[in-house]
Order: sequence, then C-alpha cells, then structure tokens
Amino acid sequence: MRIDKLLANMGYGSRKEVKILLKKGVVQKNNEVIKNSNLHVDPVKDEIKIFDEIVEYKENIYIMMNKPPGYVSATEDTRDSTVIELLDPEDIVFDPFPVGRLDKDTEGLLLITNDGKLAHQLLSPKKNVGKTYYAKIEGRVTSDDVIRFKQGVTLDDGYVTKPAELSVLTRGEISEIEITITEGKFHQVKRMFEAVGKKVIYLKRLSMGTLVLDGDLQLGEYRELSDEEYTYLV
Ligand code: URA
Repeated sequence: MRIDKLLANMGYGSRKEVKILLKKGVVQKNNEVIKNSNLHVDPVKDEIKIFDEIVEYKENIYIMMNKPPGYVSATEDTRDSTVIELLDPEDIVFDPFPVGRLDKDTEGLLLITNDGKLAHQLLSPKKNVGKTYYAKIEGRVTSDDVIRFKQGVTLDDGYVTKPAELSVLTRGEISEIEITITEGKFHQVKRMFEAVGKKVIYLKRLSMGTLVLDGDLQLGEYRELSDEEYTYLV
C-alpha cells in the first residue's frame, strides 16, 4: 500500500496534506525517514511512525450507532441527511457504509462498517440473523396477531413473511410490542402490521443477532464495537 494512502486512511489528513508531512521528514518506516509519497509499505509488517509515534494500522472500522430519526441509512443522498454525516471526519476516511437500512423515521441499532464481506454475510437471508425491534402500535395487538406473525403474514405485494416472534408488552389504544424478524424486506415491520390492520407509530431496533444496542448511546451517538462484540457478528 502506498504510504500516502495509508496515512490518509488512518486519518492523518488528505493525500495532499500527508504528502507535505512526508516532505517535512516526520514519517519513518522501520526507523528510517521516508519522504517519497509513492513508496509502498506493508502496513502489517513495517513499523510506520509519524512524529515518533507508531501508526496503529487497521483496515476495517466497525461502528455501532444509535440512529436518530430524520436521517437516511445511506452514504449519500440528494435530499436528506445521511447517517454517515453524523460521523467524525476521521472515521469517514474509512469509507464506511450502513449495513442494511433502517427507515428515515426508525431509531436504534445501526451497524456501520467498511467491511463488505461481513455486511454481505449479515444481510444474507441464509444467515437468518434475528433482528429485534421495539415498537408502538396504533391499535390493540391481540394474541391472534401473535399467532399470525408466527405463521407468516401476507404483505401488500403478496410476499408471505417467515415466522416472526411477537411479544406484546402492553395492550391498549396504543400497544407496545417487541418483534424479532429474520428477514429485511423493505418496511417489513410496518408492512407486517399493516397486514393485520394496524399501524406502527414508533420503531426502534434493539439488536441484530447477539449484538445489542448500547443503552448508554444517546440518539445520534456511536462508538466502535468492542473486540467481543465483533466476534458476535462473524
Ligand atoms: N421494518 C420497518 O418497517 N422499518 C425499518 O426501519 C426496519 C424494519
């Protein structure tokens, strides 16, 4: 990997800024000053220092965000703000993207990474990763709904959903529920409730597989996954 790319990826500035740092002679490879920005280095085997500090190389970034409403799960959008805009520039240098989509008005656990392979695995229907949501529903959610969700409901396009686990937390004019689905069809939870004549008025994702949203993260906040959390995903 080119030294200027590596340093830029690690957040030391743009390629242009990094070039200037190299010219200043503040970068070392295995204790020798290097000034040539075209030089190739092995980010794992070579010891790179900048201002006498070792550059900790990492290729991938794994972020857990508590997605706030009002942001779209995309890297770019012409109309709306994206979840990527909530990240610090030093995290954006990794070119991260959200794994799957939460609707603009949905809150909660969103994984953001630049690891395409992992994202693909997590989204694969074969992997059956359970996603649990908390929701507020307009209308009384019944035991019959629980059974229907277990059997699979027919969505507006004719698709029959895979079995979903629905637990009713409170019943009333507004009911509170938790639901676990193993698929990720467009607006799936909202459309499942529509199929039984009810409306989702608030939706928050709580977990994906064994990865659980950190309750200390306020809306819009994020942090990198711990090593242990990363192992839950692979
Ligand atoms: N189901 C939905 O309807 N919306 C989401 O954002 C996620 C799941």
